[in-house]
Amino acid sequence: MSSSLRGSRSSVAAIEAAVAAVPKLLLIGGEWRAAAGGRELGVEDPATGRELCRVADAPPGDGVAALAAAAEAQAEWARWAPRRRGEILRRAYEEVVARREELARLMTLEMGKPLAESLGEVSYAADFLLWFSEEAVRIGGDYALAPDGGSRLLVSRRPVGPCLLITPWNFPLAMGARKIGPAIAAGCTMVVKPASQTPLSMLALADVLERAGLPAGVLNVVVTSESGAVMEPLIRDGRARKLSFTGSTEVGRVLAGQASEQLLRLSMELGGNAPFIVFADADVDAAVEGAVLAKMRNGGEACTAANRFHVANSVRAEFGEKLTAKIRAMRVGPGYEEGVEVGPLIDATQRAKVAELVDDAVGLGAEVLTGGGAIDGPGHFFAPTVLDEVPPSARLLDEEIFGPVAPVLGFDDPEEAIVAANRTEYGLVAYLYTRDLDRALGTLEKLQTGMVGVNRGLVSNPAAPFGGVKASGYGREGGGEGIEEYLDLQYAAIAR
Ligand code: NAP
Repeated sequence: MSSSLRGSRSSVAAIEAAVAAVPKLLLIGGEWRAAAGGRELGVEDPATGRELCRVADAPPGDGVAALAAAAEAQAEWARWAPRRRGEILRRAYEEVVARREELARLMTLEMGKPLAESLGEVSYAADFLLWFSEEAVRIGGDYALAPDGGSRLLVSRRPVGPCLLITPWNFPLAMGARKIGPAIAAGCTMVVKPASQTPLSMLALADVLERAGLPAGVLNVVVTSESGAVMEPLIRDGRARKLSFTGSTEVGRVLAGQASEQLLRLSMELGGNAPFIVFADADVDAAVEGAVLAKMRNGGEACTAANRFHVANSVRAEFGEKLTAKIRAMRVGPGYEEGVEVGPLIDATQRAKVAELVDDAVGLGAEVLTGGGAIDGPGHFFAPTVLDEVPPSARLLDEEIFGPVAPVLGFDDPEEAIVAANRTEYGLVAYLYTRDLDRALGTLEKLQTGMVGVNRGLVSNPAAPFGGVKASGYGREGGGEGIEEYLDLQYAAIAR
C-alpha cells in the first residue's frame, strides 16, 4: 500500500477515495437518510485540524425513528435461523478483511492513530465478526429432571430485544464490532450511536453489514452532536431492552442511572487506570517491550493503557533508562506518514488535560526523563513522556491519563506494589512482570481487575472475556461470555 498519504497526488486521491466511499447519512429502517432539517456535523483530521467531510447530525426525533425501526424489526429478526445470522457476519468479516487497508486509512484519518495500528484494529474488529458468526450457532439450552423427579426443567435462551449501543472514539471500529457482532448473532436489533468525532468507521461498517444481507431495521446508526438529548429518550423509552456502553466512567454512571427506570440489561465498558508492575526478578528487557506496547498503543488513548509503572527499586534505574531510550526514539506525526509510531491526541481538550496532569506531577517533584509537554500545532500532538520519582499525591496516578505519558514509581516490598496497584477506583486491567510463577499467580489473585497481562503488554483477544470490575464497569465482551450479554434465559417447569 502507499506508505505516505500526504504529498503525492496518488496519496491525496487515496484519502479522498477512503472518505468518499462512506455513506455520510443516518441508517434508519434500512434506508440511508439525511438528518431531519438537513443538519450536519464536521469530521476532522486530528493531525491537522482540517475538516475531512460532513455527515448527517441527528436531532432527537431521528433517534426515536431509529428505535422505532429496531423495535419493529425485532420479532421477525429473532425468528431468523441462527445459521443465516452467522452467515451475514461471516460475509461482513470477509469484506472487512478484503477492504482492510481502505478502512484502516479511514480510521487513521478520523482518529489519528498510526496506520499500522489502524490495520491492527481493523483485523481485531473483523475477528469479532468472525468469532460471533461462529457463536450464533452455539446458543445452547438445558434440559434436566428436577432433583425430586417431579418435573422437567427446560432452560432456553432468547434475544434480549432491541439494544442501544454507544461507542467511543478511541477504537472506532472494534468497539462497534464487539457489540454489533454478538447482537446480530443473538438475534437482537439495535440502534448504534458512534462518537461524533469518529463516525466514519462505524458508517463504513454499517454499509458492509447492509450489503452482507442484514435485513432492514436490524442495525440502525445515528450520528449526533447531541448524544445526551438523543439517547436519553431512547434509554427511557421502554422499547429498548438493553444498553451497552463503552466510554468514560463519568458518562457510564449517568447512563446507568437513566437505564434504571426501565431496568435495562446493562453492559458497561468504562474507564481504566492500569498498573504495570515490574518485580525484581523480571526480565527487564521483556518488561520494557511490554511497557512500550501497553503504554504507547493508540498514543496512550486506550482504556487498557498502562497508567502507572510500579517498578522494584532494584531494577528501576535499568527499567527507566531502557524505557526512556525506546520512548524518546518514537517518531511522532500524522498517523498516515511512514514510520510514525505516535499520532496526535484526539483534540485540544484532551491534549490540555494530559499537559495539566504532567504539570501537576512535575510541580510535585516528578523528574522528566523525556518529553514533558505539548508539541506545537497544527494537530494535537504531545511529546512521548517518561516521568520518574512520581510522588503518590500526583493526580495522574489516580486519573486516567489517556496520553503518551509513563509515570514510574519505585517499591521495595512486593506487597506494597499490590496495594498501590489496587489504589484507584478503576479495575479494568493490570500487567505484571516476573519470572516466578508462584509470585505471578499470588499477585493476580490479589489484583482487583477484570483482566491481567502476565509477562505481556496486551490482553485484548476476541476469544477472551474483556471487561472490568469496580468503576471500570460490568459485563464482558468477546469470548463465550460475550453473546450471553445479549441473551435472556427462560426456564420452563414441565409437569411429569
Ligand atoms: P465518553 O465521553 O464517555 O463518550 C463515549 C460515548 O458516549 C461517545 O459515543 C459519546 O458521544 C457518548 N456520550 C457522551 N455523553 C453521552 C450522554 N450523556 N448520553 C449518551 N451518550 C453520551 O468517552 P470517550 O471520551 O469518547 O472515550 C474514552 C473513554 O472510554 C475512556 O474513559 C476509556 O477508558 C473508555 N473506554 C473503555 C473501554 C472498555 O472496554 N472498558 C474501551 C474503550 C474506551 P459524543 O462523544 O459524540 O458525545
